[in-house]
Amino acid sequence: MHGYVDCHCHISAADFDQDIEEVVENAKQSGLLALLAVAEHSGEFEKIIDLSQRFPGFIFPCLGVHPVQEVSPEQQRGASLQDLDAALPIIEKYKDHLVAIGEVGLDFTPRYVRADADKENQRQVLIGQAELAKRLDLPLNVHSRSAGRPTIHLLKELGVNRALLHAFDGKPSVALEGVKAGYLFSIPPSIIRSEQQKLVKQLPLESICLETDSPALGPEKQVRNEPKNISISAEYISKVKGVSVETVMELTTQNALRLFPKLKTAVAL
Ligand SMILES: [Zn+2]
Repeated sequence: MHGYVDCHCHISAADFDQDIEEVVENAKQSGLLALLAVAEHSGEFEKIIDLSQRFPGFIFPCLGVHPVQEVSPEQQRGASLQDLDAALPIIEKYKDHLVAIGEVGLDFTPRYVRADADKENQRQVLIGQAELAKRLDLPLNVHSRSAGRPTIHLLKELGVNRALLHAFDGKPSVALEGVKAGYLFSIPPSIIRSEQQKLVKQLPLESICLETDSPALGPEKQVRNEPKNISISAEYISKVKGVSVETVMELTTQNALRLFPKLKTAVAL
């Protein structure tokens, strides 16, 4: 198991259209074994499946409806049940290819939720996808922003026991409730400039995974992030936990394979 797993990455983003081959090659060179490609809306599902077939055994698809939907580059809104309805038939079609349902979750950033109804819509979309994941026997790849507590509480209420909380911005005490429920937390390279450093201190290594969230959440703001930056997360965690980068690599990869068992058969270990 010598290598990293990027548990949450937007490799289908237009940012990578021009040089995807090079991005994948650089990622492999820097020790990445596998990358989970998450979706935000049904419009990119086919592209993610195509990428997973173009880079078999390296790019693994996750399909889901993100709590925030883009109307235009300048305008976003909360997800609705119509967004989920559009996604469900495509998820069904590709269910055997998926390693998780995602990116799903709650985002209560004030500009996306103007009324309580918006929060309720997001909840319904998450509930629908948690039920789907249970039925398909898949874990969830979860986003939460300004909604750490409501997200963890809703997942627990729904009886979800396999979930990755990506770039969690809630309190460490809330994250530890998630740890008790068996959830894992993935740490992006932006950790080196973030306010969530306390979280890494408090999370047990058995509950930590690595991610890049590329092209977002890189080590430098406004600069395109890439999967090859996964080592920045590992190095940071190694310093905080006082263990070698090697140990962080091994443990986080073991954790990822435990949470996403479909990776096991496919990753060349
Ligand atoms: Zn994401």
